[in-house]
Amino acid sequence: MAISSIDPSTGKTLQTFEETTDAEVEQKLQRALRAFEVQRKLSFRERAQRMNQAAEILDRDKRAYGQMMTEEMGKTLKSAIAEAEKCAAACRYYAEHAEEFLRDEPVKTDANSSYVRYLPLGPVLAVMPWNFPFWQVIRFAAPALMAGNVGLLKHASNVPRCALALEALFEKAGFAEGTFQSLLISGKRVAKLIDDPRIRAVTLTGSEEAGVSVASQAGKQLKKAVLELGGSDPFIVMPSADIEAAAATAVTARNINNGQSCIAAKRFIIHERVYEEFERRMVEKLGTLKVADPKLEDTDIGPIATDSGRDGIAEQVERSVKAGAKLLIGGKKLPGPGFYYAPTALTDIPESAPVYREEVFGPVALLFKVKSIDEAIALANDSTFGLGSSVWTRDANERERFINELEAGLTFVNAMVASDARLPFGGVKRSGFGRELGSVGIREFVNIKSVVIHEAAGASKAASE
Ligand code: NAP
Repeated sequence: MAISSIDPSTGKTLQTFEETTDAEVEQKLQRALRAFEVQRKLSFRERAQRMNQAAEILDRDKRAYGQMMTEEMGKTLKSAIAEAEKCAAACRYYAEHAEEFLRDEPVKTDANSSYVRYLPLGPVLAVMPWNFPFWQVIRFAAPALMAGNVGLLKHASNVPRCALALEALFEKAGFAEGTFQSLLISGKRVAKLIDDPRIRAVTLTGSEEAGVSVASQAGKQLKKAVLELGGSDPFIVMPSADIEAAAATAVTARNINNGQSCIAAKRFIIHERVYEEFERRMVEKLGTLKVADPKLEDTDIGPIATDSGRDGIAEQVERSVKAGAKLLIGGKKLPGPGFYYAPTALTDIPESAPVYREEVFGPVALLFKVKSIDEAIALANDSTFGLGSSVWTRDANERERFINELEAGLTFVNAMVASDARLPFGGVKRSGFGRELGSVGIREFVNIKSVVIHEAAGASKAASE
């Protein structure tokens, strides 16, 4: 795939970029090692001062960054500006808390002193997707850099301007040259980088296919990997729920980021006692959404990020309708320039329909009717994915069952799923492994070193191993 910026609202190519050559990659790796020698020795205070500066720049230039995101991948301008603000908040959060999360932890043993110390690993490779082109990167970079690592970013090939802007951001913030660098390379060149001994660990946010490829390569090299992959999140509504609020949130939760979010609610599993009302309200609201130029203030849904992405969605829906699913609204590409797709809802979806098993990365809601909580949980778990889940109920027993029995990395009750710098984020099953964010996230890319100190010389009394 060529590295180019294509505005999905018009289909026009804005700019094309030369790939980073092998010789340039080599230079960047050398620079990363030199930067690591500086970065690892900075105190938390010094790192925090730079990270807070990055937050200042993100806040100051949020409109320019927002416009860049909107032009490259089509998210609404207002949501892109909000994304830059969220990135600033995450930088501040880790600037403030990294030291506390990585403080030495004393452990009582037979020795005079023993403790756990968290040390940086070195250069970490981050392979990132286009859908939240700043947020996905910052939620890796803020904790990784605060822990003393340095980062190399291989961003998605359709957001090179964002990739370069992120590299510039950390330099402007005062981090040493080479602390955070972007490589404009295709996915095919990632395996070779993982093989390079200077790369200590890798993180990927993206599709299952890319996750399998990166995890296999990391496995061959015995390197740590964190994977944040796809999802087909359930959104379950029980009879005791506030149906109006649930339906309104359902529309937002499905169509956020033009329907292209890993944690967008994708499968709406509704109890039969409230199904008719929920379906009516949801379809009504879907019909009022404005699909238009993402730069306009009142646009609800902009274009799909790429032409091929839109073709993929259209095909999944067509094949599912052929398999027997019933179209409630939408189900078509919209005419004109740009890669727009109508907000869509399907019901009566047979197991043989592609959308029953596959992730749909666009504004397509799948509605299912169930008779009981047992059926709701079974259907929710009948997925290879296990990322987020949203449940709507006022019943305390039902709530406990959902929390304990849903196979997902996140369960939100009476609210839509959202990432939050304070809470761990990640999935189970084929949604990946490892966690980002919170105190857990910053410990993914560290050497957890056990330190044992005997004041007088002498071997450890504990049996070896
Ligand atoms: P993608 O095609 O997997 O791309 C993601 C990144 O991986 C891009 O930088 C891509 O580079 C690279 N890549 C692709 N194939 C690769 C390979 N074989 N080896 C190494 N790198 C490879 O995913 P996408 O379509 O852009 O993003 C959508 C997917 O990401 C969805 O499944 C979504 O659910 C998931 N996602 C998950 C999370 C989460 O936190 N769990 C968050 C956001 C998105 P190129 O662009 O050069 O191909």
